[in-house]
Amino acid sequence: MADDQVTKTEDEWRENLTPEQYQVLRKAGTEPAFTGKFWDCHDDGMYKCAGCGAPLFSSQTKFESGTGWPSFTEPAVADAVELREDSSHGMVRTEVVCRRCGGHLGHVFPDGPGPTGQRYCINSCSLDLDPDAA
Ligand code: FE
Repeated sequence: MADDQVTKTEDEWRENLTPEQYQVLRKAGTEPAFTGKFWDCHDDGMYKCAGCGAPLFSSQTKFESGTGWPSFTEPAVADAVELREDSSHGMVRTEVVCRRCGGHLGHVFPDGPGPTGQRYCINSCSLDLDPDAA
């Protein structure tokens, strides 16, 4: 386990997160489309993990996906996230997890724009926007 790993008990997570954040980050839930605070956000900055503060996605890689969730073409740093195969809900998808705290962020799909061709489809409530970092 890496030195900067963040581990907390279920009770600690529950205390530190809103009920919706807990459901998404710790229970792999999904916020309803078009309800989160970032799907239509165009501010500059660094999107950080709402669970542990790790820098995850730059606003420079954010694009309009039309899905109702904030969407990015790539992580800010390659090892900021971990990808896991997810076969829940009768689908095979690739889950995107915060490497530092293991929090569920969303999924990545191979239908994104630009050179990466990736669409990181991330829950707003898993993120905090830091406008002073880019
Ligand atoms: Fe995290």
